[in-house]
Amino acid sequence: MPILVMKFGGTSVADLDRIANAAEKVKREVERGYDVIVIVSAMSGKTNELVNWVETTSPLYDAREYDAVVASGENVTAGLMALRLQEMGVSARSWQGWQVPINTTSAHSAARFVSIPRDNIDAKFAEGFRVAVVAGFQGLSAEGRITTLGRGGSDTTAVAFAAAFGAERCDIYTDVDGIYTTDPRISSKARKLDKIAFEEMLELASLGAKVLQTRSVELAMRYNVRLRVLSSFEETDENSGTLVCGEDEIMESKVVSGVAYSRDEAKITLFTIEDRPGIASAIFGPLAEAGINVDMIVQNISEKDYDDAHTGAVTDMTFSCPTNQVARARKAMEDAMAAGLIKYDDLIIDTEVAKISVVGIGMRSHAGVAAKMFEALAAENVNIKVIATSEIKISVLVDRKYLELAVQALHDAFELDKA
Ligand code: ASP
Ligand code: MG
Repeated sequence: MPILVMKFGGTSVADLDRIANAAEKVKREVERGYDVIVIVSAMSGKTNELVNWVETTSPLYDAREYDAVVASGENVTAGLMALRLQEMGVSARSWQGWQVPINTTSAHSAARFVSIPRDNIDAKFAEGFRVAVVAGFQGLSAEGRITTLGRGGSDTTAVAFAAAFGAERCDIYTDVDGIYTTDPRISSKARKLDKIAFEEMLELASLGAKVLQTRSVELAMRYNVRLRVLSSFEETDENSGTLVCGEDEIMESKVVSGVAYSRDEAKITLFTIEDRPGIASAIFGPLAEAGINVDMIVQNISEKDYDDAHTGAVTDMTFSCPTNQVARARKAMEDAMAAGLIKYDDLIIDTEVAKISVVGIGMRSHAGVAAKMFEALAAENVNIKVIATSEIKISVLVDRKYLELAVQALHDAFELDKA
């Protein structure tokens, strides 16, 4: 029988009624003829509570025990979901990660998949079981310890199972009914997309459209797993939600598919640094060691071409990172200066910026997207502080107070409200 993966996030299994509601959706797919692998998150708020219990008990906790504790939320919902399905007459059983086994690396709280052997679950399907309910977010290390995949990891579990079992589709049930052209809380004109390409979703996911864990989209793209995002609170059918799929499945896309934003950005500029080979490495090496997620990078043009040794030449370097990493970034730069690795006259931090990006695979074959974007921002008198582009994305940093205005202006300029 064809296999379908259905993943239910925390709000979709938040209490017994919602678990029953999710089970109804599973039963419907079984009646349609699918063998179903259900991946469940912990009840919403549960993982946070467990993390808090660990941190309160042991501030410098043993990461293996952290995983043993926080993985337990999913065990509860997996068992309850199996029980509910049994009550509804559907043959189901639950699987914890170690029972499958979901083999992962030993990087506790950030483990990655090594293998998901099909044998045990396939044997149960062969016996006549129709549903395997698997605890998301967790796995088993080679040392025999429980691991977790990082917050939001159940999405990635779902995609990994869809890839391992050759599922027809991986349906991600959540509390929104799909992927929108922008955040509906910012623009009332935001429109739900029927389809979006993996690459576009990847840009949107990493830009803060928090619907899917970024890793899950990467994995889906690598294994060509068709992903569907849909609401567990609505009646749904084959056409509900948004399909995240390969470009070949998208007939004609607009040049720009969506406008994404990230509110908590900071901009750091090092003024008057030496312009010599190795200077970028001397700046970004220490930042990487400090674990700073550097995003945009702009180096000014060399002031002047001096001799081959670049004696006396200077330039400026600007980069962005999340606001909550600013203090660590500053310290990394001050330490690098103290150690004589770099020199700068001034270090200026602007924590009042936001990043706004337009994303679309159509950009590859269309000119003029940047011009149109800048024109729309200019018309609203929004000043652009940093610009960065990639093949399918143009991002700008602007003052955070203009975030809503800028998103709305761009959504209008690219007519994203129209299908
Ligand atoms: N329960 C885990 C978390 O809250 C994993 C997940 O739900 O995806 O991060
Ligand atoms: Mg999630």
